[in-house]
Amino acid sequence: MSKILIINAGSSSLKYQLIDIENEEVLAKGNAERIGIPNSCLKHTTAEKEPVELQTEFSNHEDAIKMVIETLLNEKYGVIKDMSEISAVGHRVVHGGEKFSKSVLIDDEVMAAIKENIELAPLHNPANIMGIEACRNLMPSTPMVAVFDTAFHQTMPRKAFLYAVPYETYEKYGVRRYGFHGTSHKYVALRAAQLLGKPIEELKIITCHLGNGSSITAVKYGISVDTSMGFTPLEGLPMGTRSGNIDPAIIGYIMEKKNLTHEQVDETLNKKSGVLGLSGISSDFRDLTSAAQKGVERAKIALEVFNYQVKKYIGSYAASMGGVDCIVFTAGIGENTPCVREEACSDLEFLGIYIDRKRNESIPKDKKEGFISSDCSKVAVLVIPTNEELMIARETMELI
Ligand code: AMP
Repeated sequence: MSKILIINAGSSSLKYQLIDIENEEVLAKGNAERIGIPNSCLKHTTAEKEPVELQTEFSNHEDAIKMVIETLLNEKYGVIKDMSEISAVGHRVVHGGEKFSKSVLIDDEVMAAIKENIELAPLHNPANIMGIEACRNLMPSTPMVAVFDTAFHQTMPRKAFLYAVPYETYEKYGVRRYGFHGTSHKYVALRAAQLLGKPIEELKIITCHLGNGSSITAVKYGISVDTSMGFTPLEGLPMGTRSGNIDPAIIGYIMEKKNLTHEQVDETLNKKSGVLGLSGISSDFRDLTSAAQKGVERAKIALEVFNYQVKKYIGSYAASMGGVDCIVFTAGIGENTPCVREEACSDLEFLGIYIDRKRNESIPKDKKEGFISSDCSKVAVLVIPTNEELMIARETMELI
C-alpha cells in the first residue's frame, strides 16, 4: 500500500501523479489548469481508464487539490478507494536556497524556511507553498515531503558557486549560483550509472537537460560539482525564450539605447530572447528544426548558437572534472532531437566522444532510451528520458 501523491504546483496550474512506489507504476496523473481564472478544468488520465476532462471552477489551490483527491477517489475514473491508501505527498519546491541540500519532511520550521526563500524565487516558491498548505489542510495526518530543484547542486564547491562580485553580495544577499533542474540531473545520472553497470561514485557524468529551460551539470562521483544555471534559471545555455549567458554590460547598454525599465529588460531576457529571439520564428525546437531543413536562415542561426553552447559546456565540464566517462541527453529537446545531439557532440573526438549516427537517429524513432555513442567511443553517450516525478516519489518514500 505504498502510493505516493506527487504535487507540482505552479501559480495557475497544479500537476499531479499518483505513483505506486512498489512497482514504480503511475496509477493516475493530471493537471488542474487555470486556477483562479474562469473556465478552469482538470485533465486526468489513468493507466487503465479513458482520460477525462472535468470542467469546474477552482478559485484557489485548495479547491484544485480537493478536486484532485475527489477525482482519485471517484468510482468511475478514480484509482483508489480511500484516502488512507496515499502514504505520503511529495511536493516539488523550486528553491531551497542554502538551507536545503536534501529533501525533507515538511513541518512548520521547514515551511518557514521555504517562505524565507520566496525572495530568491518570487515566481515559483509562493505557488509551491500554496500547494503544500492546501495539502496539509486537506490531509493533516499524511506525511509531506519537499523535494527541491536546487538541493542536488548544494554540493558544488565555492569556486563553482561564487560570482566574482564583492563578497558581501553573497554574504548579505545570498547572490551565488544555486542551479536548478536538480531532480532531473540526479535521476538521469543515477540511471546512466545503472545502464553502464558501474557505481555512480566511480563516474564522471555530464547531464544535459535540454528542454524549454535548459541546463547542464557536471556530476563527479555522484555529486553535482558545477551547473550552468545560476542565481536564477536565466543563466547558462540559450533557451526557448531565455538569453542564457550574456555580457552583463549589455543590460545597461540596451536600457539606455531603448529607454527600457529594469522590468522591461528582465522581460526581454526571459521571454523574448533565446532561440525565439534569435530565430524570430518560435521557441519550439520542432518548429526550428523543420524551418532550418527548409533553409530558413534565422532558424539555422538559432540552432547553431544553441548547439555550440551545449558543446562548450560539455568541453568545460570535462575540464572541471578532469575527464568525462558519460554524457546524458534528456528532456524535450535532449530526448527528441537527434540533430542537436549530433551537432553538440561533433568535433569532440579529441575527448574520446564518437556518435553512432544510426543509433542516434533511432531515438526516439524506435526506442526512448539507449546508447548513441559508437563502439569505439571512450565516452558513453546516452539518451535517458527524465522522470522528475519518480525521483520525487523515491525520495519521499525514503524519508517516510
Ligand atoms: P520540455 O521543456 O522538456 O517539455 O521541452 C520542450 C522542448 O522540447 C520544445 O522546444 C520542444 O520543441 C521540444 N520537444 C518536445 N517534444 C518533442 C518532439 N517529439 N520532437 C522534437 N522536439 C520536441
